[in-house]
Amino acid sequence: MIRDTRTYIISVALQQRISAEQAYQYRIVPIEEQGTTVVFYSDTTTPETLAQELFIFLGYAVEVKQIDTETLDIYLSTNFRKAFGAEKQLLTYTQDFLEKILLTAKSIGSSDIHFEPFENTCRIRFRLDGKLKEQYSIPKEEYPVIINKIKNQAGLDISQNRLPQDGRITVKTQTEEFDIRVSTLPTMDGESIVLRILSKDTSNIQLDQLGFTEKELQIYKEGVRNPNGIVLISGPTGSGKTTTLYATLKLLNKIDTKILTIEDPIEYTLEGVMQMQLREDIGLDFETALKTFLRQDPDIIMVGEIRDVKTANMAIRAALTGHLVLSTIHTNSAWGTISRLIDMGVPAHLIASTLNLSVAQRLVRKLCVHCKKEVPIEKDTFSIQYNVPKELKKHYIAQGCSHCYHTGYSGRKAIYELLPITKELSVHIKNNETQIDTYLEKGNIKKLSDQAIHLIQAGETSVDDVFALLANQ
Ligand SMILES: [Zn+2]
Repeated sequence: MIRDTRTYIISVALQQRISAEQAYQYRIVPIEEQGTTVVFYSDTTTPETLAQELFIFLGYAVEVKQIDTETLDIYLSTNFRKAFGAEKQLLTYTQDFLEKILLTAKSIGSSDIHFEPFENTCRIRFRLDGKLKEQYSIPKEEYPVIINKIKNQAGLDISQNRLPQDGRITVKTQTEEFDIRVSTLPTMDGESIVLRILSKDTSNIQLDQLGFTEKELQIYKEGVRNPNGIVLISGPTGSGKTTTLYATLKLLNKIDTKILTIEDPIEYTLEGVMQMQLREDIGLDFETALKTFLRQDPDIIMVGEIRDVKTANMAIRAALTGHLVLSTIHTNSAWGTISRLIDMGVPAHLIASTLNLSVAQRLVRKLCVHCKKEVPIEKDTFSIQYNVPKELKKHYIAQGCSHCYHTGYSGRKAIYELLPITKELSVHIKNNETQIDTYLEKGNIKKLSDQAIHLIQAGETSVDDVFALLANQ
């Protein structure tokens, strides 16, 4: 490549966000060009891959252009001081690195950060749209410095590395503030740490933007607008139940309504709502909290999860005494919730008289609109198992491009299965009837698999994503 003799202006803002180590490692120099930031690169990798990696640690897309090695070296040496080795520098570097990890994870919408030690290296993975993706791999000798930094910030005992610990970090930047729940786990090769990013901010959570169709939203609102009774949302961990509950609380949060919540952890903060953190270590469990709540004259109670018969019975007592109770339960379907309660030992007639609505939900990944590819559908096991309509001849598959950070997907949406407890259904429940297929068909109750197939048909998601999602149904 011919030596470039033009003069470039270094992007000072970006220069501060890139460490000297990274500049030398990736062989990049940030340059301002016509108001936009461009990153130059040498001949070490392809521009697209590099842009991808830069997107990950910067949190936004940048353009990568090629420059000759000689010019790049000149810009590198004049703008980044190469300094490795000394412990003090390692500490500063680690601190910056940790901050970069946290801010990057938050800005790309990642929910969890995993720090995992192995025999020779350590891995840092981000969970994005429900899937883990390796983000960084760091040398083992740098790992303890990062781990101690995290433990220190989370108020944990640094000298204790043989027992699990839990803590919290509040991250404050100029524009935002968010909390991180920290959990450590001693493993064979060192401590593994998982950070859960708690978004706190509910401003962008709206009931009508979660994935409900217009008709579903109407049924759902009818269920939660009852002054008393129970609304239960079921689904595995990470199916978006908490988000649905908070969107609901936002709808119901009025000046004339008292709302109390108990959960673990408190995922969002909602003004005007009394929120309590579960503390089982001091005896504050869901049942105890519910009992206390009833003396606090609430209208609406939100309980993180119904795990046992004691909590279920307290929820029923609250509903029978004129309160609306919102909660979650671990089951696979809306009807499964009723069977689960009965299995727990809750009398069927009490379920029938207090449950307003049973909801099951899942999150499906949305195909990236920039790179999804249409292909003919194969009449495979999926079609047979899930009754894919004959007219569905084509569907879209995930590919991957720079927009979706090579995953093929961008964002998620919820699919819902709604089972309102009508008079007729409550009779079935009271009579302990387990086969209610006819009722569901007659009532036109859409199953999660029906909703998923509808989204495949609309080209919004892929067979692959849905197959994994419904496999355990
Ligand atoms: Zn894409």
